[in-house]
Amino acid sequence: MPWFFAPAGPHDGYENFGVVPSDANSVGSVKIIEGALLTVGLKGGAGLAISMSVATIALNVPRLEKPGPGGSRLLKLSATKAGTCQLIAKTADGATAATLDIVVVAAQKSVNSPKLTLSPLGKLSMADANKWIKDVEASVKLVSENPVGKIVLKYVPDVVVIPDFVDTTCNASSLVVQRPTTSEGTSSVGRTVQFSPSLCNGTGAGDRPDEGLVHELIHQVEDNCSEYKNVPDPANRPTPGFEFDGSDFMTITITNLYSSSYQRPLRKDHASYARLPQSYASNEAKYFTDFRGNFVSLNRRLSAFYRDLIFVEVPWDPFQEIRP
Ligand SMILES: [Zn+2]
Repeated sequence: MPWFFAPAGPHDGYENFGVVPSDANSVGSVKIIEGALLTVGLKGGAGLAISMSVATIALNVPRLEKPGPGGSRLLKLSATKAGTCQLIAKTADGATAATLDIVVVAAQKSVNSPKLTLSPLGKLSMADANKWIKDVEASVKLVSENPVGKIVLKYVPDVVVIPDFVDTTCNASSLVVQRPTTSEGTSSVGRTVQFSPSLCNGTGAGDRPDEGLVHELIHQVEDNCSEYKNVPDPANRPTPGFEFDGSDFMTITITNLYSSSYQRPLRKDHASYARLPQSYASNEAKYFTDFRGNFVSLNRRLSAFYRDLIFVEVPWDPFQEIRP
């Protein structure tokens, strides 16, 4: 008698794997998070065919020719959309031999901010997806408790946070995509932040995981604006001075306000995680004056956001130089 089984897994807030009775044809249901991977076993009965009743889950490994230990075969499933579906094993004559109901739970809203949806997507194992969600929630919590983080969350539009599959060192990215206009004439903006907290260790200035997250959320507040200018730094780096790559003056500067509130070192520029020279770390007026053009740029585009940053109470705040 064939049957499906799904391995037991961690249960840290999300139900990953159902416990499947080993002596039944019909084996109940398992729950997984949208976008995650699930490995399901099918035991017994050579020549069984597998089908899915609803295409909310994609079969990553449709071929079943190679039996594993004990005659079982493993199916790798990728949950592509929230919903329910049924995995059915059929015998050669088309009769149903075993069924497994699968519930795909929608990507989760962050418990620490309704603006952020956490989606581990389909490239992480279930255990890794759960660890990622836990780590991201820890960063969102720190952002939500910080006076500057609160302002960033106030102005950030709804964003989907996904793991960073590209980088192996501390990096993250912010994507803002204008979706095509539909036949009904509606258009929308897709916003995604790629972020893997485990890649950041906090040894440099501005590279603690929560600092990386608030940095990317500032990009989202700014719609990935890219009009900032580099600034000469004759004392520390004559050429090319402070590097902002067009897009990364306010991400660095506002994250520095954030970091100062957590007694973390301040970051110099976008070239590395080096510290801001003491001549600026201890003199916000000089910072504001030397980088004035970039402050004016933000104020022109996002004056309400800018005004909130003037009045926030944190140890390092060059915005307050124009407090009335
Ligand atoms: Zn950036």
